[in-house]
Amino acid sequence: MPKTLLGLIGHPLGHSLSPQMHNEQFGKLGIDGYYHLFDIPEEELLKGVQALRQLGAAGFNITIPHKVNVMDYIDKLDPSAERIGAVNTVVRENNALVGYNTDGEGYLESLLDVRSLDQIKNANILVIGAGGAARAVCYALSLRSPESITIVNRTQEKAEQLKNHLEDIAAIKTASKEEAESRNHEYDILINTTSIGMSPEINNSPWNLENVKASALCSDLIYNPWETKWLKDAREAGLDTLNGSGMFVNQGALAFKYWTGKEPDRKAMLALVEDHLKGENNAE
Ligand code: NAP
Repeated sequence: MPKTLLGLIGHPLGHSLSPQMHNEQFGKLGIDGYYHLFDIPEEELLKGVQALRQLGAAGFNITIPHKVNVMDYIDKLDPSAERIGAVNTVVRENNALVGYNTDGEGYLESLLDVRSLDQIKNANILVIGAGGAARAVCYALSLRSPESITIVNRTQEKAEQLKNHLEDIAAIKTASKEEAESRNHEYDILINTTSIGMSPEINNSPWNLENVKASALCSDLIYNPWETKWLKDAREAGLDTLNGSGMFVNQGALAFKYWTGKEPDRKAMLALVEDHLKGENNAE
């Protein structure tokens, strides 16, 4: 057995690029590690976490549907994961399982590739969606004190809950879709955190681009398809765009660093993801 056992728990797991991305880096950095997929149904989560403890796993990533429930079965929470209310990375530290969330910082780091910190601070930001990924992204954005964050969600109550959760640290508000779309000219950064644009909704867009300012950035957390319909429309309208591949690579790289203490080669990780997904149009 490898010295460092890691992996991803979720259900259904389908195809994930995480094993290839991490295992390639173990090889390059000479780490005796292996990243494995653990398909664990919802009702088996406790057993799954116990099994990983017994196997002496150095940690694991968590995806749908376990990001919230896993908090009940680990020993400690990092304060930011506690605030976000979800865990995507568990690290074994002195035999205790500690929960972190690297999604928000992973997103922020990808945003910093295309916008400066000053631009983020001066930005009026629109966040479409209020699910788990939106919680992590809104928390990371809130820590950078942007001019404003407006959250719009199909289920407005969830947008309200997210606003209430972060309003002590950010200028954050909610709006109906109609109201926010009528203010399109105000947003500097528009972020789609919904699954609209992924299969089976690859021909749908989460947001109308009418009157969006020419300098605005449209950012989608989705990276499969590589370019969603919404991002394609934005690019063709001359707007800057950012897909979710940078977030995916960065959240993985941050987890890798927690587990091994080593910085992986993010460019190589991105190249691997790009090789597999760019040019493909058959999202899962
Ligand atoms: P989630 O917790 O299930 O949240 C889904 C969100 O999408 C909710 O706000 C939901 O609205 C909204 N939504 C879904 N279908 C919709 C529809 N037809 N019309 C309007 N709103 C709709 O999921 P999540 O974990 O936040 O993930 C959201 C997206 O982020 C996914 O596409 C996922 O692949 C992506 N993601 C990317 C990364 C990355 O590394 N790039 C990491 C995490 C997630 P309601 O509240 O009304 O249901």
